[in-house]
Formats: sequence, C-alpha cells, structure tokens
Amino acid sequence: MKGFAMLKLGEVGWIEKEKPTAGPMDAIVRPLALSPCTSDVHTVWESAASEKRNIIMGHEAVGEVVEVGSLVKDFKPGDKVIVPAITPDWGAVASQMGYSQHSNGMLGGMKFSTSKDGVFGEFFHVNEADGNMAILPDNVSIEEAVMLTDMVPTGFHGADNAEVSYGETIAVIGIGPVGLMAVAGSNLRGAARIFAVGSRPVCVEAAKKYGATDIVNYKDGDISDQIKEAMKGRGVDKVIIAGGGVETFEQAVKIIRPAGIISNVNYFSSGDCIKIPRVAWGLGMSHIRIIGGLMPGGRKNMEYLSNLLKYKKLDVTPLLTHRYKGFEHIEEALLLMKNKTRDLIKPVVTI
Ligand code: NDP
Ligand code: ZN
Repeated sequence: MKGFAMLKLGEVGWIEKEKPTAGPMDAIVRPLALSPCTSDVHTVWESAASEKRNIIMGHEAVGEVVEVGSLVKDFKPGDKVIVPAITPDWGAVASQMGYSQHSNGMLGGMKFSTSKDGVFGEFFHVNEADGNMAILPDNVSIEEAVMLTDMVPTGFHGADNAEVSYGETIAVIGIGPVGLMAVAGSNLRGAARIFAVGSRPVCVEAAKKYGATDIVNYKDGDISDQIKEAMKGRGVDKVIIAGGGVETFEQAVKIIRPAGIISNVNYFSSGDCIKIPRVAWGLGMSHIRIIGGLMPGGRKNMEYLSNLLKYKKLDVTPLLTHRYKGFEHIEEALLLMKNKTRDLIKPVVTI
C-alpha cells in the first residue's frame, strides 16, 4: 500500500509498505478524512523527538473499518469510526493509575508514527479496537469528526488540567486550533473572562466566537505586561499554554495569581530547559501548580466529545479553513501546516 512518510529528519515523501494486519483485539481501518498536525511539523522539521526513518506520518483520522480481530466485539467491517490520536494499552498499570497516555512508558499511548506507522496510509492499524475507536454519529460529518481526534481533546485537556471553573479569568497562550479548543473548553466549563493570545486574524475571529473576551497580540509587546495591565496588576486564575516557545512559560508564571494553575499542552520542540522566574514564583512558595499533558485518547473520550457535536454544543466548522479532496493532497495539506499561511487554522483532506 501507499503512504505518506517521514523519510528522515527534514524529509517527507510517498513510500510503499506492507498492508498492516490485525491481531485478535485490533482493527484495520481505511481513512475517509485526515488532517495533518503541528506536532507532525515539530517531529519532521524541528528534530523534536528521536529521529524516525521511513515511518508513515499522521495521527488524525476518521475511517471505515475493513478488518477486525477475532476478539473485537463492538465493531465490524463497514463501520465508520473516529480514531483518537492517542490509542492507549488499557491493561497497562499507567492506565489503571489514570494516565493511559503514558501506558508502557512516557507518552507511550502515542503510537501513530511513533512506535508504528501512522494514519496517512491507504490502511492503518488500531490497537485494542474496542477501547480505542468510536462510531461516527449519523449527523456529524467526517470533516468535523476528524477535529475530535486531536484538536478538541487536546484543547479541552488544557482546560480540564487547569480545572477551569465558572467565573474565572483564563489566559490561553496560542490560538491555533489547539488553543481555540482550549478557549472553547474553558468557555464550556464556565470561565468568565478569557484572554486569547495570537496574531492570525482568522484565529482571532474564531477565538471571539468561542468565547474570548480579550485579544492579546504577542507581536505588540511582552504578553505578561499586556495582560497584567489589562488585569490592573491582579493575576489571572489559570493559564493554558497552547503555542509559542519556551518563553511562554516564564510569561505564564508572571501573569498567574498565587495558587493558580498553569496547564501546558504545547509541544516544546526546542530549548534545553524551561525557566521559572524566581520572584514571580513567590520565591518558591507561590502554590502555583504546573501541569503539562498529552491529550487523553480512547473510546469513551471520543464518544463523549462527539456528543458535543451531535447535540450542537460545540461547532468545529470554524476550524476547517482548508478542504482538499483526494488522498494525494495530504502532502499539500502538511506543507500548508508547516508554512502556516495567515488564513489557515486547520486543513482537512477527504478521501
Ligand atoms: P499553531 O501553530 O496553529 O498555533 C500556535 C499559536 O501560538 C498561534 O496562535 C500563534 O500565533 C501562537 N504563538 C506563536 N508564537 C507565540 C509567542 N511567542 N507567544 C504567544 N503566542 C505565540 O499550533 P496548533 O494549535 O496546531 O498546536 C499547538 C501546539 O499543541 C503545538 O505545539 C502542537 O504540537 C501541540 N499539540 C499537543 C498535543 C497534546 O496532546 N498535548 C496534541 C496536539 C498538538 P499566530 O496567530 O501568530 O500564528
Ligand atoms: Zn497532533
């Protein structure tokens, strides 16, 4: 079969691979809708993770089941399914501890294009199909559903880890598709005032739709100064980091109130260390909590998030700025994600 792959660091291209086979609990899926991710860009062009060679890329897919293993109970060939970017091993001790993202090691739930080929192939493999896929609801399109595989759960994970609560003031640093979903997730959880930090006009407009009350452009000066001024010196309750480099961390510590929560979902693709400013951190006694997380995958998560689309509580269509038809366009869509034109939020390729 054909697949679009990372050939080596900084190089991508089409390759031929054997069609994957399903173990007893697994499924083989044919993609119907795909989307490239900023994480793919970090991995290939920023040497962010360990170098992979000739591995099929991609982890955001909605597809049709073509084969299931003998122990799979709830899915059959022909089913249309949402497959999350993170497909944990549900029997692992880390999963039993509530951190399925790290089943079998740090970030071990991230299997696509890490420990096996990703979803940008004519077929792809899903481990533990009953635990890791969800049926596509009738009234949800495949383009919308592909946003449930990574963008919605990652942004919402940022808001969940920040423990956003009603009436709070939140700053979301970075409003690409992930940050926009952190704005939407914070809004759904009841945040009152939401600072959204970004510069692309299309993202700014979407942020307002999702509930941002204040827009901050990081190109207009240090965001901690801008937010502190708007807050008249008070700190925000929570900060969600979903973009920018390691410097955003320092800014987050400077704008948060004592005992606030900094929740990171950004993939820091460069820099050896992340700095914590000593004085803003209360000389080490601020009770500020810091958490960073990989999105949770799994079936339950996909089913519950797809309910939000099914019952019209969340509209992901503002994210879909670029649509392509045909598997061959995956290359173009990925390069668009790399070059980030000003009118881009997220591309989707339907097959
Ligand atoms: P985008 O590149 O589309 O968005 C990044 C955002 O950060 C943009 O709004 C950009 O502004 C803003 N930004 C850039 N530089 C700065 C800066 N110096 N200060 C403040 N804001 C800045 O990324 P995505 O939304 O697609 O992804 C966000 C991150 O999430 C990526 O690192 C990605 O790899 C990661 N990720 C993490 C996952 C997880 O499970 N934790 C899963 C999926 C993705 P501008 O408007 O100028 O472009
Ligand atoms: Zn991703």
